[in-house]
Amino acid sequence: MPLRILLVEDEQELAGAVQTVLQRQGHVVDHCPDGLEGWMLLSSELARYELAIVDWMLPGLSGPELCRRARTTGLDLPLLLLTARAETADRVEGLDAGADDYLSKPFAMEELLARVRALQRRQPSYREPVLAVGPYRFDPQSGLLEVSTAGGLVAIPLAGKEQQLMTYFLENPVRIIPGSQLRNQLWDLHQDPVSNVVAAQVRLLRRKLAAHGLPSPIETVPSRGYRFLARLPGEP
Ligand code: CA
Repeated sequence: MPLRILLVEDEQELAGAVQTVLQRQGHVVDHCPDGLEGWMLLSSELARYELAIVDWMLPGLSGPELCRRARTTGLDLPLLLLTARAETADRVEGLDAGADDYLSKPFAMEELLARVRALQRRQPSYREPVLAVGPYRFDPQSGLLEVSTAGGLVAIPLAGKEQQLMTYFLENPVRIIPGSQLRNQLWDLHQDPVSNVVAAQVRLLRRKLAAHGLPSPIETVPSRGYRFLARLPGEP
């Protein structure tokens, strides 16, 4: 399941490598090199982060202090501390500050990914991976969307961004979702805010469904956003 991740790390090279590895897994990653900036992103309404990876030594605000602030204000997302310090006392301090886990530098990227998966599984909100709404059933593991129609079951393999968009729609059916919300949740902050990535991606998804003979369940609500219908269009 793709996550919206905040990475706070001031070592550019390491940050770049971590970001690349996480993005390759389909995660959406925002990176900032400063603790205070990281805290502002985490506590803002801009995106609902589902995991934060935070370095210990940072300009602006230390990693443990950032964790402490997050917990004090009631943020309950998983926090993974990165630390060059190996001493037990430091690790305890990090965990006491509210971190869920820590990783000592240097680390292998495989280990980072394993920790991320473990933290994801531990989340109380961790859902059954298969999402089902009305006739639509999407399995993020296989990337396969299945749609029950009068003529039988139609199976459609979805590509990376289509999967993320479908997941978001199936988690938020029927209600109107502003395009800006989709952009904030599914694309990183460096995306040009005026570019029409959301509309383009929605178009691709509709086209893919049409290629399988299906009408689009995604309605455009003029000047308000998008709405995913929990039924086959044309059926009551
Ligand atoms: Ca550092």
